[in-house]
Amino acid sequence: MRTMAVRAVIFDWGGTLTPWHPVDHESLWRSVCEPHFPPGQVAEVATAIRTAEQDLWQVTGRSHQSATLAQVFERAGVSATEEFLASYFQAWDPHTYTDPDAVPLMQGLRERGIKVGVLSNTMWPRSAHERVFLRDEVMDLIDGAVYSSEIPWAKPHHEAFRAAMAAVGVDDPAACVFVGDRPYDDVHGAKGAGMRAVLIPNDDVPAFGGAAPDAVITSLAELTDHIDAW
Ligand SMILES: [Mg+2]
Repeated sequence: MRTMAVRAVIFDWGGTLTPWHPVDHESLWRSVCEPHFPPGQVAEVATAIRTAEQDLWQVTGRSHQSATLAQVFERAGVSATEEFLASYFQAWDPHTYTDPDAVPLMQGLRERGIKVGVLSNTMWPRSAHERVFLRDEVMDLIDGAVYSSEIPWAKPHHEAFRAAMAAVGVDDPAACVFVGDRPYDDVHGAKGAGMRAVLIPNDDVPAFGGAAPDAVITSLAELTDHIDAW
């Protein structure tokens, strides 16, 4: 099994293709709410949304069931207009830039005949992620992407990894490499699904003592050497 040639590399999104940096979610939601709610309601609405968002991420953490932005607003008792959603995704723009190493990395993988995939635990709809990938000119380099908001499960559930394999058209997990920044969701999940796993660690993700990654990298540029060795 360990001599299986690599046929697909599947990437986590936040903290992996998009370098991790801290975001003040409470103040982000306040800035999103400001143009859309009366001044006296902004803080209350922003807190309700942020609380609902955290609650649903906790449910995902416990159950590995996915959640959506629509569920966040429903739980918070907020009706989100198109204009409100546009403000929200605009507020995220400075935090979603794709790592400059991603384009040459993906091009190099595709030159080797290796499929490029994405599997993200996210509440955002596909359209929001594709807007980011189009902006950063990586959309055409991705063969298949799965967003947990579109399926019942999230990483580390094996069904999420199975869906990502189907999206890139590879049916043998031993021929897949997963790259992510979270030891539990990404590394433990991918290893449990039968894939190789590469960890690109950051400072803000809980450690997990379970499955050891097959490689640890500090930048995406280091990945190709491991792929070639495998
Ligand atoms: Mg991540």
